[in-house]
Amino acid sequence: MLEQSVDILKGVGEKVKEDLALMDLHTIEDILYYFPYRYNIAEVKPLAELVHDDTVTIVGTVLHDPTVSYFGRKKSRLSFNVQVEQFAVNVVMFNRAFAKKQLLQGTVVTLTGKWDAHRLQITVSHYKVGEPSDEVSIQAIYSVKGNIKQARIKGFITQAVENYIQEVKEILPPAYLETYKLPSIQQAIYSLHFPENKNALKHARRRLIYEEFLLFQLKMNYLKHRNQLEVGGVAQQINRERLEQFMKTLPFVLTDAQVKALEEILKDMTMPMQMNRLLQGDVGSGKTVVAAISLLGTVTAGFQGALMVPTEILAEQHYESIQQLLPKLRVALLTSSIKGKKRTAVLESIAQNEVDVVIGTHSLIQEEVTFHSLGLVIIDEQHRFGVEQRRTLREKGLQPDVLFMTATPIPRTLAITAFGDMDVSVIQQLPKGRKEIETYWVKDDMLDRVLTFIQKKIAQGEQAYIVSPLIEESEALDYQNAVALYEQLQTYYPAHINIGLLHGKMKNDEKESIMKQFLANDIQILVATTVIEVGVNVPNATVMVIYDAERFGLSQLHQLRGRVGRGDKQSYCILIADPKGEVGKERMKIMTETNDGFKLSEEDLKLRGPGDFFGKKQSGLPEFKVADIVHDYKALEVARNDAQKIIRHNLLFENEEYEMMRNVVEKQIDIKQFD
Ligand code: ADP
Ligand code: MG
Repeated sequence: MLEQSVDILKGVGEKVKEDLALMDLHTIEDILYYFPYRYNIAEVKPLAELVHDDTVTIVGTVLHDPTVSYFGRKKSRLSFNVQVEQFAVNVVMFNRAFAKKQLLQGTVVTLTGKWDAHRLQITVSHYKVGEPSDEVSIQAIYSVKGNIKQARIKGFITQAVENYIQEVKEILPPAYLETYKLPSIQQAIYSLHFPENKNALKHARRRLIYEEFLLFQLKMNYLKHRNQLEVGGVAQQINRERLEQFMKTLPFVLTDAQVKALEEILKDMTMPMQMNRLLQGDVGSGKTVVAAISLLGTVTAGFQGALMVPTEILAEQHYESIQQLLPKLRVALLTSSIKGKKRTAVLESIAQNEVDVVIGTHSLIQEEVTFHSLGLVIIDEQHRFGVEQRRTLREKGLQPDVLFMTATPIPRTLAITAFGDMDVSVIQQLPKGRKEIETYWVKDDMLDRVLTFIQKKIAQGEQAYIVSPLIEESEALDYQNAVALYEQLQTYYPAHINIGLLHGKMKNDEKESIMKQFLANDIQILVATTVIEVGVNVPNATVMVIYDAERFGLSQLHQLRGRVGRGDKQSYCILIADPKGEVGKERMKIMTETNDGFKLSEEDLKLRGPGDFFGKKQSGLPEFKVADIVHDYKALEVARNDAQKIIRHNLLFENEEYEMMRNVVEKQIDIKQFD
């Protein structure tokens, strides 16, 4: 039985059991599925192809009997030469004095160890008398913890595989194994622990990757399906004519991408199911208008709408722009700085249905807020909100439709894993006539020229942002830095150039007043910490200077860059950075080469990995044992399609071949058959 405790294995007593528990290994199944984190692949290559500092395998003939020297208390060093090709290679082995007798002159030996190309020397970690068994030998390496050492865990795994592997059940119907040429689960587990050769290992991995992705996507799909069927929702009777009329009043025509996204949203709203949709679109792609039309849509259907954003300043900006866009609607602002009587009045009017659309920050989801009839909730920059908060807000109305918007393009692989239970709309097209922002990367010795360039642009009536240097993720110090830079610039520039300062510690009315002055061009240069990262819209600003650019993620840099290029003038982004490593340099280069947020997000994912992508706290990403969503994205797509088919055709319940699969899914989530 796979659920049996590890203590049925020989050599596992109370103490070892505890040690294994520390590694999260409790059952036989856990042991079987405890896969190596890497493999030493001992492939014999010509000396000329060996790479300095790599682990390599060589075969040679011992040139003279080894000598042993002792040092420390029980330590020894054994050394000799072997002939490989026409070279004499130095061999060093530590603490293997016993090997001396096996390695006499003339012996052929296979040595694996760390290669020093300069000294023509190998420091041996593993040796075998004689020629290597195949041309390749593969050694599994497990990650170990505490008292459990490599040999120990290998021993337990060997026992488990020998005695229990036949109990592992196949969950994939035969057709899957055939179509994708996958080994059976038993074969795959065996090969992962004891790879016969590289090929066997490859297919074993393919098998487990596919299975992991399939099970994951099955869960996501099932939940999505259930959500649609069970949560239900209001079929909103949207007045399309009023929407058409409204669109005619816009000073522009929607792009095809905007129209498509809007149609997808409106269709969801019209259906008697709760919308759970993610709208992705690069900075400036025009998500706000789409949001506004959707909000108008819910109002024409007799409901209230809510728009939730991450910062107060953004709430205020959205409040202004939605009011401008939709002057006939009753729009209210609700943030934590709206207090006392004013707050009571706003709350009252929301409850009494005297407000059509509420715009706010986290305040919107507090207990005290009661909506009269909430039809649509739009959450901007959703990855900044926790799952809990999303749920609370969703539960506020009856079954409001929910639209998440993000300007941080999320690579498709991440989108379908982290947001697998959502529908996704993408606006991957900017309105016509936008000028590409020119991006430059400079080191700080160019600062003078940068400042002169800003002055020139100001002389032409334009404005600039300067994002101040970062200090080790300390908000307090960043703020000091911003203040220092602000003061320096004031002495640097002539008095007629007004400089403003914006940082997270300022009070809201201070921030607002600064932003208003910047918008009115009473301030020409705005020195800011990253509080301006999202949303703020000043079309006359054409220069964005970012200090310490190497310390930001590509997506964040792209967000900052998106603050300019919002008008019809040519805009510039100047990255001041002196990255140390190659990756850092590569990142700066990519920024100068592309304005495509989706491309940047893919690169960001490749360079920094998924963990960094959403920030550590709310990654919401599942963990896979073998699969890697970046590397194995193709398998993810395949598994996703298969999962969709399985759920759509109800195969888990209606086809016997899927019984094992259903059992596994059932163990992880509550599932039941739909009518
Ligand atoms: P996002 O929220 O996606 O960053 P916005 O909605 O703020 O983008 O739009 C950026 C700017 O582009 C706004 O000034 C908006 O009025 C304008 N805009 C939106 N859609 C179009 C369009 N189809 N054609 C021209 N301009 C547009
Ligand atoms: Mg926006």
